[in-house]
Amino acid sequence: MKKVTVIGAGASGMMAAVAAASAGAEVTLLEHKDRVGKKILSTGNGRCNFTNIHQEPIFYHSEDPLFPWGIIERFNARDTISFFLQLGVYSKNRNGYIYPNSDQASAVLDAFRMELRRLGVNVRTGVHCREILPGKRGFRILTDEVREEPSSSKSGKSGPSSVAESYRADSVVLCAGSKAAPSTGSDGSGYDLAKKLGHRILPVLPALVQLKCDGSFFKQISGVRVNGTVSLFGEGGCLAKDTGEIQLTNYGISGIPVFQVSRYASRALYEGKQVEAVLDFMPDFSEEQMNAFLKARASVRPDKTAEEFLIGLFHKKLSDLWIRLTGIRREKRAGDLTETELAALCSMIKEFRVTVTGTNSYDQAQVCCGGVDTSELDPETLESLYIPGLYFAGEILDVDGMCGGYNLQWAWASGRTAGEHAARD
Ligand SMILES: Cc1cc2nc3c(=O)[nH]c(=O)nc-3n(C[C@H](O)[C@H](O)[C@H](O)COP(=O)(O)OP(=O)(O)OC[C@H]3O[C@@H](n4cnc5c(N)ncnc54)[C@H](O)[C@@H]3O)c2cc1C
Repeated sequence: MKKVTVIGAGASGMMAAVAAASAGAEVTLLEHKDRVGKKILSTGNGRCNFTNIHQEPIFYHSEDPLFPWGIIERFNARDTISFFLQLGVYSKNRNGYIYPNSDQASAVLDAFRMELRRLGVNVRTGVHCREILPGKRGFRILTDEVREEPSSSKSGKSGPSSVAESYRADSVVLCAGSKAAPSTGSDGSGYDLAKKLGHRILPVLPALVQLKCDGSFFKQISGVRVNGTVSLFGEGGCLAKDTGEIQLTNYGISGIPVFQVSRYASRALYEGKQVEAVLDFMPDFSEEQMNAFLKARASVRPDKTAEEFLIGLFHKKLSDLWIRLTGIRREKRAGDLTETELAALCSMIKEFRVTVTGTNSYDQAQVCCGGVDTSELDPETLESLYIPGLYFAGEILDVDGMCGGYNLQWAWASGRTAGEHAARD
């Protein structure tokens, strides 16, 4: 029986272990945290958006843009839904975003735990892999393991200690994740393991993350949520844009549309480029329509003050800021606002420009962009082109998806492919 060792018991690792065991291999799953699948519990705000019905190649990013799609096509959203159904997880569809019917991320994790047990996978927690040594006949995996053992200290008290161990395997699947949300276990040590084996790591940066922006006024508008479009500009023009609920915070901008464009900001800033975000708070109106709308609004209630003019249209904190930034007197009558003043207000609404100075840290990022260079893998099997028997899956690879179930879909699809092939002779 082929011996497969999977390193990392996150989404991709548990899927790889299930796939390899289902294909008849003897599987060991090593995890350095005290429990498996910690990150899954925090996905989808605790509800786990585990895939999405709407799938297109452009929803996945990589240096080789076609690479992820080849894997996704082999195990797509429908395969994911039926896989979980077989494990007892009935799904709920919210505009294409798929969740467990119970709305509990723990249901996905529990289903995996039961399946790993049913298939006889040897799950070892508290096992940190520090080196993978390929040999003529398979691999040796060097680990440090947390053990609850009597201490050798004079006090005689027992306590956890670290013990060096090693495992043998015919194939290894490296599923150690990225650097995002390191408290869940993905501390970036997987990249070091891959690097020691000769694989190239493309720059790893936070993605699906909040953006820090210049401007002391952010403190004034912090807490405001507003529907709008975020367009991100680098030195070469528009990098990305997205529409949805923008959250204004005391350090900058957040919310789903900001997450969707954040990977482009991360990369451009890393390359030393200037990055600007342009916020459109009325995306359904063209500039001309907005101008005409403001003029009509001023003529309908000319006695309102400038301060009162936008009440009911935008959050008061925002309109107060715009009145201040345009230099319009707060007590000026709406009917007396000049064309120039109305045009200035219009550009605040349609083209609010902020300089992006950075992203929040890995602690707040949902995923990372960059990782193990996919050009060094077989695109059909995810096996290393350098080391036969070594496979990769999940976020450790240079693949990141959009927000909306795509990153877990990548984890399931790549875990499935790598696990199945690792189990073959
Ligand atoms: C807050 C949050 C919400 C999210 N919500 C969603 C969502 O709703 N939908 C979606 O599609 N995606 C979501 N994501 C992204 C998604 O969770 C990840 O892309 C996915 O879990 C990655 O799976 P993985 O198996 O590659 O890595 P991980 O889940 O990070 O698993 C890697 C595992 O390897 C272990 N490990 C690392 N190094 C070692 C080592 N040296 N030795 C032993 N073990 C090791 C880690 O402890 C960890 O358990 C979210 C992410 C976060 C942080």
